[in-house]
Amino acid sequence: MKAAILEQINAPLVVGDVELTDLLFGQVLVKIIVSGICGSQLQEIAGHKGNGDYVPHLLGHEGCGIIEDTGHGVTKVKKGDKVIMHWRKGNGIESDFPIYIYKGKKIRSGKVTTLSEYSIVSENRVTPIPEDTPEHLCALLGCGLSTALGTINDEATVRFGESVMIVGTGGLGINLIVAATLASAYPIISIDINDNKKVLAETLGTHLYINCKKENIKEAIQTKLGISDVDVIIDTAANKQTSEETIELLSNTGRYILIGQPRPGESIELHNANHFFHGEGKVLRATQGGKFSPSEDIPRYVKLHQAGILNIDGIITHNMKLDDINKAIDLVRDGQASRVLIEM
Ligand SMILES: [Zn+2]
Repeated sequence: MKAAILEQINAPLVVGDVELTDLLFGQVLVKIIVSGICGSQLQEIAGHKGNGDYVPHLLGHEGCGIIEDTGHGVTKVKKGDKVIMHWRKGNGIESDFPIYIYKGKKIRSGKVTTLSEYSIVSENRVTPIPEDTPEHLCALLGCGLSTALGTINDEATVRFGESVMIVGTGGLGINLIVAATLASAYPIISIDINDNKKVLAETLGTHLYINCKKENIKEAIQTKLGISDVDVIIDTAANKQTSEETIELLSNTGRYILIGQPRPGESIELHNANHFFHGEGKVLRATQGGKFSPSEDIPRYVKLHQAGILNIDGIITHNMKLDDINKAIDLVRDGQASRVLIEM
């Protein structure tokens, strides 16, 4: 079967022929319909995930597919079920790592990978969903959209009318705008270094879009919104300069949530750090997938979408084929795309 392979750090992915092996206890075989591309894959390609010693390896961690086969012990799904594939653990067995063969040798992979025609997945990394659930929604719910909803709802616990600033309007930032809108945040401020996301960000609910290469963020929120601080700041970029500039804007009940990861070894400074003691004490934290709990959260999110309350129109900017994986990665890296889907 065809799969995207990271053979070398900082090199283009190779689309090669990979052999599947027999399912082990607690594993399922999924025929993949569609996979998303997440910022994590860019970090893996750059070797920032501690993965440099494990290449060549497979990758991708949000997808939608159909169960083709199940290993011993699996009870959660059966052949023919439609599933969402996710990197966060849900109910079910945590299996051993899957075994694939590439160029006659074993090749590494996580307990879920999605950038291939088929995938061997641990039972706890798939969640069955109704057959009529749209595939593009399923792919987003594997990571990006679920992380955004969890970050706004569980991690930042945004209250009605609180101000939310989203730093970076890439694949995750765009999903965060949707989540902040759903939580009735006001105003919603989006920050980016490109203007090309402005229309989409505003359509999805952004009240003020700031290009921080052209405008000072603090001045812009003061002159255009009449506010001097922000209740919740979600940082998907983890750019040193922008992080330092925005941390200072936290209100006295402010929560600053890092989703984007700083590069290994990089420092972010807290200027005038005493301000963290204003009010009851501010919060600065990192989140792992917005505490997304697949078995509990996915059924709720699917229902919300079905009811027309969770609107994801416009989030997916590109649908591409596996052979074009490097073009797709470049679009994400250059900030030209929001969410890119790879159709198998
Ligand atoms: Zn992800």
